[in-house]
Amino acid sequence: MLSLGIEGTAHTVGVGIVNEDAKVLANVYEMLRPEHGGIHPREAANHHAERVVPLIRKAADVAGVDLADIDVVAFSQGPGLGPCLRTVATAARALALSLEVPIVGVNHCVAHLEIGRAVNGCEDPVLLYVSGGNTQVIGFARGRYRVFGETLDIGIGNMLDKFAREAGHGFPGGPVLERAARESSTFLTLPYSVKGMDVAFSGLLTAALNRLKKGDRFEDLAFSLQETAFAMLCEVTERAMAHLENDEVLLGGGVARNRRLQEMAGRMAADRGARMFVPPGDLCIDNGAMIAWTGLLMHRAGVRMSVEDTVVDQRFRTDGVDVVWR
Ligand code: AMP
Ligand code: MG
Repeated sequence: MLSLGIEGTAHTVGVGIVNEDAKVLANVYEMLRPEHGGIHPREAANHHAERVVPLIRKAADVAGVDLADIDVVAFSQGPGLGPCLRTVATAARALALSLEVPIVGVNHCVAHLEIGRAVNGCEDPVLLYVSGGNTQVIGFARGRYRVFGETLDIGIGNMLDKFAREAGHGFPGGPVLERAARESSTFLTLPYSVKGMDVAFSGLLTAALNRLKKGDRFEDLAFSLQETAFAMLCEVTERAMAHLENDEVLLGGGVARNRRLQEMAGRMAADRGARMFVPPGDLCIDNGAMIAWTGLLMHRAGVRMSVEDTVVDQRFRTDGVDVVWR
């Protein structure tokens, strides 16, 4: 069985093709990189509309398959930016109708978790999902992926991107900060904001920006921002693991590519006799392969959607999905 998945919740449009063994046959994508400012939803949707058809063809080429051999089309149904979601859903509907195959709408956050479970071979991990727009600690309980903790304001990636942007760097800012942070070991105190199981980043961002304006070194602030934000994330993740008596933690989302975060989460896990897993970088960021794989799992478990069921949901909750395939 072959599944083709289309991702397009935010800045990246991607197409992946996977088979029943979770082998990724193709995973191609293009990311909108605005020259100034943040992501404009309409602009991103236009970008996706322009690129999605060539990407579908490219994915088939890379995978060495004929589109006629695709058995199911999956797409990112939410959460995300409305215009982007609608663009990708339209492309998925058109493709599924023309190939005369079933269509499945996939929750983007759940897809980050499922691809990690498949490629890293972990059974029942707590997921620390850290991306541009999302920051969630997710665990499986009573038939659903439940959000144990999340950001109360902005996603961690957006926070890193905004700080880098204000300091004059381009998008994405996360990798820029990671490199800069390696040039420093001077820890500057910034607000540490954990509220129960939740975290908040906007106070941290404001404080770091104020210090930047007052002349503190960019490298020292990059280092301190990472140490503070990642410690917050490790704290709430550890609490969820303790609560669930879970001995696996899986990282997902673009920020999971950060080596320092991997190191800190790995240390936290090892200290409690647990193991930490990170998918390869191309499967951490927003990608079509994770959508294809989750769609395949859903289809195999009997999930069927009519075109009416494929309406997008900008606020699609992780715990709104009935996880019938587990
Ligand atoms: P996603 O939304 O999952 O596609 O991930 C994109 C986000 O990941 C952006 O906010 C990037 O700045 C961030 N990101 C990518 N690589 C890194 C890195 N090495 N360190 C920190 N953040 C990163
Ligand atoms: Mg994502």
